[in-house]
Amino acid sequence: MNIGIVGLGLIGGSLGFDLRSRGHRVFGSSRRPETCELAIARGAVDQASTDLALMRAAEVVFICTPLGVMQATVQALIPHLDPDTVLTDVGSVKGWVVETIAPLWTNFVGGHPMAGTAESGIEAAQPNLFVNAAYVLTPIADTPPAAVQLVEALASSLQTRLYQCHPVVHDRAVAWISHLPVVASASLIGACLSETDAEVLQMAQALASSGFRDTSRVGGGNPELGTMLAQRNRAALLHSLYAYRNQLEQFIQLIEQENWNRIQVNLQHTQAARPKFVDRNQL
Ligand code: NAP
Repeated sequence: MNIGIVGLGLIGGSLGFDLRSRGHRVFGSSRRPETCELAIARGAVDQASTDLALMRAAEVVFICTPLGVMQATVQALIPHLDPDTVLTDVGSVKGWVVETIAPLWTNFVGGHPMAGTAESGIEAAQPNLFVNAAYVLTPIADTPPAAVQLVEALASSLQTRLYQCHPVVHDRAVAWISHLPVVASASLIGACLSETDAEVLQMAQALASSGFRDTSRVGGGNPELGTMLAQRNRAALLHSLYAYRNQLEQFIQLIEQENWNRIQVNLQHTQAARPKFVDRNQL
């Protein structure tokens, strides 16, 4: 197929590598000419241009720009599209995106591949980023079934685990497991930085190892993306943050009360619950 990708960054470039390797012809478009050149040089796309007219030949277009410019990007893209072209996006928030873009283009299917790294831009794009990752599609009542099937087929060809749900369900679910962790992890780094004794802080930085690396990873990621998530999924994120604050306060109280038994019970409970989130065999 002829496939278009608009926004050649980490996600757009990585999609390009994989779709090309499945035999598709990939046309890319990005804001900066140097990004287009690098995407071609790295082999993420067959052709690329800052001019959206290149998307005319595409049967499917993946919108992979930052969330904040998606609406304007689709508006600029529409005059160049064949009416049968299927449009999909990779945005990390779905309620706002679907509400904004579905009225602009009938053949639109919201999507979210749940994979990423702490890096951004075309330099960070890599083949096989989506292997074994979840890929969620969020069709609504009037999304054409044929468009959903087409995006589903492409997403599953990337060896992803496919899911479908309503955009609101997606946003509430990812608030718990993706957006709350960004804020919790950023707060962890911020709390460490509040240490006022320079010697202690330096020693903490020197001693930080795999545990800190794991728990701080998403808090050290792309700041623009984190801000967009908070802005575009505000209600669901706040809901999960209030619950998180409640958990923290309970732990603080138990430690103040020296209630070690209760703390152990709580930790036994979280230890038993974790596999359902991270171990695929438990689902
Ligand atoms: P990224 O690496 O920063 O890539 C976004 C690219 O979009 C940039 O490289 C930029 O290319 C281009 N761009 C910016 N403004 C543009 C415009 N007005 N028109 C065309 N291209 C423009 O970001 P990303 O991590 O790939 O995220 C892209 C999307 O994927 C976001 O919607 C995000 O919510 C979603 N997502 C991210 C992750 C993640 O973990 N990172 C995971 C899943 C989904 P230039 O170099 O040309 O400026």
